[in-house]
Amino acid sequence: MSNIVAIVGRPNVGKSTFFNRMVGGRDAIVDEVSGVTRDRHYGVGEWNGKRFTLIDTGGYVVGSDDVFEEEIRKQVTAAIEEADLIIFVVDVETGITDMDKTVANMLRQSERKVLLAVNKVDNSMRVNDATEFYALGLGEYHCVSAINGSGTGELLDEMASELSDEDPDSNSELPRFAIVGRPNVGKSSLVNALLGEDRHIVTPVAGTTRDAIHSRYNKFGFDFMLVDTAGLRKKGKVHEDLEFYSVMRTVRAIENCDVCFLLLDAQEEFGAQDMNIFRLAQRNKKGIVILVNKWDLVQKDTHTALQYEKLIKEKIQPFTDVPILFISALTKQRIMDAMKMGVQVYENRRKKIATSVLNEWIEPVLEKYPPPAVRGLYVKIKYVTQLPIFTPTFAFFCNHPQHVKDPYKRFLENRLRESFDFTGVPINIVFRKK
Ligand code: GDP
Ligand code: GDP
Repeated sequence: MSNIVAIVGRPNVGKSTFFNRMVGGRDAIVDEVSGVTRDRHYGVGEWNGKRFTLIDTGGYVVGSDDVFEEEIRKQVTAAIEEADLIIFVVDVETGITDMDKTVANMLRQSERKVLLAVNKVDNSMRVNDATEFYALGLGEYHCVSAINGSGTGELLDEMASELSDEDPDSNSELPRFAIVGRPNVGKSSLVNALLGEDRHIVTPVAGTTRDAIHSRYNKFGFDFMLVDTAGLRKKGKVHEDLEFYSVMRTVRAIENCDVCFLLLDAQEEFGAQDMNIFRLAQRNKKGIVILVNKWDLVQKDTHTALQYEKLIKEKIQPFTDVPILFISALTKQRIMDAMKMGVQVYENRRKKIATSVLNEWIEPVLEKYPPPAVRGLYVKIKYVTQLPIFTPTFAFFCNHPQHVKDPYKRFLENRLRESFDFTGVPINIVFRKK
């Protein structure tokens, strides 16, 4: 199960302001997906212990005023098909418009859970004006102000109560691999290269209609699930080229997997879209393997692969301990090596290092490079242990946890990576009071 929340509504009601409050808000959100500012329409959040991905569909509306209605219909249709919950934002200043009625009708006819947010209720005088929105026929609504934050906590409470609290990591017996990447990098070609002519080795494992479909791959000594969401779009009435669709599918595939294969096109530069997907996987703490596909098309000498690798590592800093393989889905070059690497990363992600081993490891590290003193305060690390949770997380117990800065955390992370293989796996370093 994943929790995808889509924000819909016509332009200027305050969707993006609302989105920024939700993903920027101190309490609500643990992280956001960075990238080019323009591209920041989705973020990962947590509220009352429920993790969710928030998508501002408004960010995907393009075009002039006359195409708006059609565009918004498409976004709402996509949200109804792909999201688990929809937040419909309207504007108390303008009151109900025809477009609002159209959207409300679409939402009412769907079976999707909808929360109605009446925005711009900046003061109590406007609370009375909001009552007109009962006429949309969506029942109770939340008065919110995206600008000053009032009402958003209650809305998040209700949202969280509707979301699934199943930890997608808890129910996996077999490794789950997802193949992600922007359009045309060769995702379906790779899936076909793996599963294509040997369909009988594929066992579709039934999920719910909207969840990712898992295909079991059990051959050549491998046994894993391929998380596939691409098949789901076929049911939609909406144009397949809608960027919003591909974003939602990517989000869902990432949330449902243990390891993502991020596919790149060897003929193109590592761009903002590739970066967004990389960060999304990283922030979701999934294992990552980068596959540079269409390698058969590249003119190469002995240095070409290294040069590619160097360029990619510059882009994905500071998390560069990621395997990069050069493959061809067309000729099947190295695709088995890629799967092997996926298994290795999967195992790295599950790895647990004994506390005794860690404490033996840390002694010489601290001797050589102790944490720098802050305003005369000496930070003394007493011991370190790996927490019994899914993502490799190392808790360092010390006297002044608040005085340990990011550069030293990165230093420790790098030493850990040198001594124990965590290739492809985001790891957490936390400091606790002892
Ligand atoms: P979007 O097109 O739906 O994404 O709308 P925006 O987030 O870009 O907001 C449209 C305008 O409404 C901007 O000028 C915002 O500053 C303003 N706005 C957004 N939320 C509020 C609010 O809670 N109160 C008031 N008074 N203005 C708001
Ligand atoms: P998707 O949109 O990511 O699923 O990409 P597709 O699998 O549909 O591939 C897009 C195009 O790239 C198609 O024309 C494929 O034939 C081509 N393609 C995919 N992988 C390779 C490859 O390894 N080498 C070459 N030469 N072409 C490829």
